[in-house]
Amino acid sequence: MIEVGINGYGTIGKRVADAVRAQPDMEVVGVAKTRPNFEAQTAVDKDFELYAAIEDRKPQFAEAGIDLAGDVEELVEESDIVVDACPSGIGADNAEMYRKYDTPALLQGGEDADAVDASFNARSNYDTVEGDDLVRVVSCNTTGLSRLVAPLQEAYGIEKVRTTLVRRGGDPAQSGRGPINDILPNPVSLPSHHGPDVNTIFPDLNIDTLGLKVPATLMHTHSVNVTLESEPDAAEVRSLLEDERRTFVIPEWLGLDGAGAIKELAQDAGRPRADIWENCIWGESISMEGDDLYLFQAIHQESDVVPENVDAIRAVLGEASQEESMARTDEAMGLDTPLAQMQ
Ligand code: NAD
Repeated sequence: MIEVGINGYGTIGKRVADAVRAQPDMEVVGVAKTRPNFEAQTAVDKDFELYAAIEDRKPQFAEAGIDLAGDVEELVEESDIVVDACPSGIGADNAEMYRKYDTPALLQGGEDADAVDASFNARSNYDTVEGDDLVRVVSCNTTGLSRLVAPLQEAYGIEKVRTTLVRRGGDPAQSGRGPINDILPNPVSLPSHHGPDVNTIFPDLNIDTLGLKVPATLMHTHSVNVTLESEPDAAEVRSLLEDERRTFVIPEWLGLDGAGAIKELAQDAGRPRADIWENCIWGESISMEGDDLYLFQAIHQESDVVPENVDAIRAVLGEASQEESMARTDEAMGLDTPLAQMQ
C-alpha cells in the first residue's frame, strides 16, 4: 500500500483525499488543516486523521472539539509521498519540510514551474517523473489543454495552437472573488501564462493563449484552434478524441448547451460533488477548415486535476505503467463510465 499524506484540505485537497482513498493500492495517512472550519469537520466526518498544519493553532482545534492525530511534520514523516494542495505559493514554501523528511511531494498548478523538478500530466509525460522529489501537477487549464494536444500531436502533428480561455472568476465557495458583473481580458497583455505553462509539458509546442475572466463559477471554457500538419476530416478527429481516456465528447442529442447543463448532468449522474474529471468537448464544434481544427471544450477547474494527482503518485514512485495507472485510477473513481450513461 502506498501511504499518502495530504497537506491542505481545500477544494483540491479534499477531492484528492477521496480519490486516493478509492484506490486499491493507496491509503490516506491523514490530512493537514490550518484551522478548524467546515472542511475540517468534513475530514472528521469522513474519518480522515487530521493533522495541524500550524503548531500554534492546535488549541483552536481543541476548542472546536476536533481531535488531532499530530502535526504536519509527523504526517510528512509517516507518508511515502505527500500531495500538497495548499494555496498558491505555500507549496513551494513547504518544499524544505518535504526535503527534511526525504518525502517526495506533489505540488499543484498554482506553484511556479521552476520551484519543482518537473511538471506532470498523466496522458502526456507520465514516464518522465519517476524518482523525482518535487513534481507539479499542472493547473486545470493546462491539464485540459495537454489532454487535447497529446493525441492530436501523435496522430496528426501540430504546427500551432491558438486558444482563448474564458475563465471562471472564482470557485463556487470563493466568495471574495470578482468580477461581479464584468468581462475582463486577463491578462490584458499577450500571451497569457497558459501557453508557457503548456510548454512545461510540451517544450517544443508552438502555442499562443489569450485569457478572459467572466463572472461565472462553474467551469472554464476554451475556444481552441489547432493548425495540424495534416488534414484529417472532422469525423476522424472526433473519433480520435472519443477514444481518449478523460475526454467526454458531448453528443449533440444530450442538449448540453453550456457549463450549467453539464454540471446538472454530473449531479444527475451522482458524481461526487458534481465533479467532471474529464474534458467536455462539444462534438458538433469539432470542425476542420483545411488544416485548421476548431473546437470548444469546458473544463471543471475543481476536479480535472484530481485523477492526475493520483497518477502522479504512482509515476513518481514507479509503482505502475502509464496505462495501468490511468486505468486503475479511472476505474476506482468511476471515471471510466461515460458521464452520460452513469446512474
Ligand atoms: P483552497 O484555498 O480551496 O484550499 C487550500 C487549503 O489549504 C485551504 O483549506 C487552506 O486553509 C489550506 N492551507 C492554507 N495554508 C496552509 C498551510 N500552510 N498548510 C496546510 N494547509 C494550508 O485552494 P485550492 O483551490 O484547493 O488550490 C490549491 C492549489 O491547487 C493551488 O496551487 C491552486 O492553484 C491549485 N489548483 C486549484 C484549482 C481550482 O480551481 N481550485 C484547480 C487546479 C489547481
